[in-house]
Amino acid sequence: MQLRIPGPTPCNPKVLQAAGRQMIDHRGKEFGEIFEKLASKVKKVYQTTGDVLILTSSGTGAMEAAVVNTLSPGDKVLATSCGFFGDRFAEIAQIYGANVIKLSFEMGNFVDPDAVRKALKENPGVKAVLMTHNESSTGITNDVKSIAEAAREVGALSIVDSVSGIGSINLPVDEWQLDAVASASQKGWMSPPGLGMVSMSSKAWEANKTAKMPRNYFNLAKAKQFLVEKKQTPWTPAVSTIFAVDAAVDLILEEGLTNVFARHARCAKVAREGVKALGFSLLADEKHASYTVTAVKAAAGMDVTKFCSVLRDEFGVVIAGGQGTLTGKIFRIGHLGWVNETDMNEVLAALPKALPKSIVK
Ligand SMILES: *Cc1c(COP(=O)(O)O)cnc(C)c1O
Repeated sequence: MQLRIPGPTPCNPKVLQAAGRQMIDHRGKEFGEIFEKLASKVKKVYQTTGDVLILTSSGTGAMEAAVVNTLSPGDKVLATSCGFFGDRFAEIAQIYGANVIKLSFEMGNFVDPDAVRKALKENPGVKAVLMTHNESSTGITNDVKSIAEAAREVGALSIVDSVSGIGSINLPVDEWQLDAVASASQKGWMSPPGLGMVSMSSKAWEANKTAKMPRNYFNLAKAKQFLVEKKQTPWTPAVSTIFAVDAAVDLILEEGLTNVFARHARCAKVAREGVKALGFSLLADEKHASYTVTAVKAAAGMDVTKFCSVLRDEFGVVIAGGQGTLTGKIFRIGHLGWVNETDMNEVLAALPKALPKSIVK
């Protein structure tokens, strides 16, 4: 089976083996040693010397943690969005009472840093800019470096959803001075779902001191205190996923971050060139096309749901359809985590076989 959705991604057998280990006491010495080492290895993937908190949650929980630990109700927040996940980030801030100013771009477009700069000028007093590193719903990678620069110019925090980016696409958190960055185990970390991660810069911790949004389970100050003082988490963690991510991070660091990023870039190129050669066109502006997910426009008369089920049932290839308003209009090929060019070629070989069975008019 070729599981090629934008997460969960397939896992290396070494990672699965680690996930299958017997349980241990999450308040015991062995757990503490594993957890402390994992916390420091995770920082390498984040390219930060600051804090990265490991939470038991999916990526959305990590995004929520980044928002509620740095902001207060009523705070002005500029939420940038070029798709489904950007909209989700804005919604989280809204639900917790932020005064959200939304800056949206059409599906398939990127977030223009100049437009961000302009919006920040027109709306003085913005406390934080929410940004999506890699928009998985449309296959776009945004210029987080420039957007964060624009945020910094007005003293705003940069809060980043890099759930489908980090570990696959270069995101040097310290060098780009990103304040809080969310990710999740089932994406570039090539592990089962279960863990969310959030980095916190010193500026983010400073904001945390006065941040008033309600939080209980996702209290990052508490998570840090438990990590530093006890090598533990405040609540029972997803122990199996911790074992898995521990093994997966070893694989990532062994391969080397630069090589991992290059492999994703190559897979993306194979995917994009391949679908174009089959006569499809891409949703994303190619200059900003993602290294981890390729969004492809449905051909005329094509039933995307049928296409995906024929691929799955007859050819063992699992891809994703579109989300929200893009349902039925696009299909998406995930190429993140444990993936190489051979996998991509297998996916591409199945597409023209499934296509004739998916044309309805
Ligand atoms: C997968 C994903 C998320 C988080 O989804 P969960 O299902 O909560 O893990 C958030 N943002 C992006 C860009 C994603 O790809």
